[in-house]
Amino acid sequence: MKFPLLPAALLWCLAASAQSAFKTKNVFIITTDGFRWQEIFSGADPAIINDTEFVQDTSLLKDLYWDNRVVERRKKLMPFFWNVIAKKGQLYGNRFENNKVNVKNIFKISYPGYNEILTGYADPLFIPNLRINNRNHNVLEYFNARSGFNGKVVAFASWNMFPNILNIKRNRLYLNSGYDSVPENGDEIGQKINEVEGQILPKGNTRNDLLTSIVAREYITKNHPRVVFLSFGETDESAHHRKYDKYLQQANNFDMMVAGLWYMIQTDPFYKDNTTFIITTDHGRGKEADTWCCHNWYTRGSGEIWMALIGPDTEPLGEIDQPGQIYQNQIASTVSMILGQEYKSSHKAGRPLRSVVTANPLSIPDPPLLEQASK
Ligand SMILES: [Zn+2]
Repeated sequence: MKFPLLPAALLWCLAASAQSAFKTKNVFIITTDGFRWQEIFSGADPAIINDTEFVQDTSLLKDLYWDNRVVERRKKLMPFFWNVIAKKGQLYGNRFENNKVNVKNIFKISYPGYNEILTGYADPLFIPNLRINNRNHNVLEYFNARSGFNGKVVAFASWNMFPNILNIKRNRLYLNSGYDSVPENGDEIGQKINEVEGQILPKGNTRNDLLTSIVAREYITKNHPRVVFLSFGETDESAHHRKYDKYLQQANNFDMMVAGLWYMIQTDPFYKDNTTFIITTDHGRGKEADTWCCHNWYTRGSGEIWMALIGPDTEPLGEIDQPGQIYQNQIASTVSMILGQEYKSSHKAGRPLRSVVTANPLSIPDPPLLEQASK
C-alpha cells in the first residue's frame, strides 16, 4: 500500500508513534525578554558599547565583554551558548548568515510574543501588555490535560503578567510569577526565598531573574515536572532603561542560569539525557545604535528573534549558517513533536521544526494544518 492513500492525519499519527523512538521525555521552554539576536551572534555591539549615553564605564565593560574577533566576543558574553549549545545543539537566527527567525505577530511586544510562543498562534487581535485573560489555549495546558503529564506541567516567570497570558484562571496551571511566594512546608530554602522576596521594595512588575531561577530550581529538583516554562525578564527591563551595560550583564547572567540549569538536569537521573531545552525570546529590538532600546510594530528589527535548542534528539548542527526562515509560531508544535505528540488546538498553529530532530526533515511528514482544515 502506498502512503499517499493514507490521510495526512493518519500519516502523522504513524510518524508520531514512530517518534516514540525519540529520547525526549521532558521539555523546558526558556525565554529571556527582548534579547536581540545581534548580541547572541556577534556579542557586544561595537556601535553601542562605546556610547557613554548607554554605558557608564565603557572601558570596564570592554574588559568584560569586548574582543575584536566576533567568535571570541560572543563567547565572552554567552559562554554556555557558544561552548555547549553551539557544539551539541542548534542555534537559529544569525541574520549575518541569512538565517532568520521572526515573530509572526505584527505587534512585536511581549504579550503577543509569549502568546505566539505558547499557543503557536499569532493572534491578529491586538493583546496589549495588560491584565487581560488570554482567549487562546496554550501548549502547556494541552499537555497538562494529557495522561502522563497531568500535574507535571509548570511555569515560572519574572514578569507578573503571566497569570493572564497563560490564563491560569481557566486551566489551573501551576505558575509562580512576579513576587509570588513559594509554599514553605517547613523547609528552610522556601522560607529564605520568601524572606528575600519580602525584603525587596518597591516591588516592580518583574521579579529579579535570579530569584525566579532559584524558585524554579527548588521546585524542579523536588517535583520533577515534565514540561517547564521558565521566563526571565531583566534583559528587556535594562534595555528600556537605556542601560547597555546592565543589558549585557543580564544577558551574561541569563547564560549562566541556563548553564546551571542544564548542569543540574544532566546530573539528575530523572532528567539526564531525556530532556530538551528550547530557548528563545518574545521579540527583538531596534537594530540601530539609537533604536536598540525600543521595540514595537514600527521600530525596524523588533520582529527579528533567535532560537536555541539542545537535547538528546537535537541534531548537533550547532550554529545554523545556511539561509533559512523559521517563525516563533513553530515553537508550540515543535515542543509537541519532540514529545512524540501532535499539538491540537482550536486555532492555527505553525508547523513543527523538523530540522531539529533529523538531518532528513522529509522523513517526517507535516501534521495536518488546522488552518487548512478550517478553510
Ligand atoms: Zn519591552
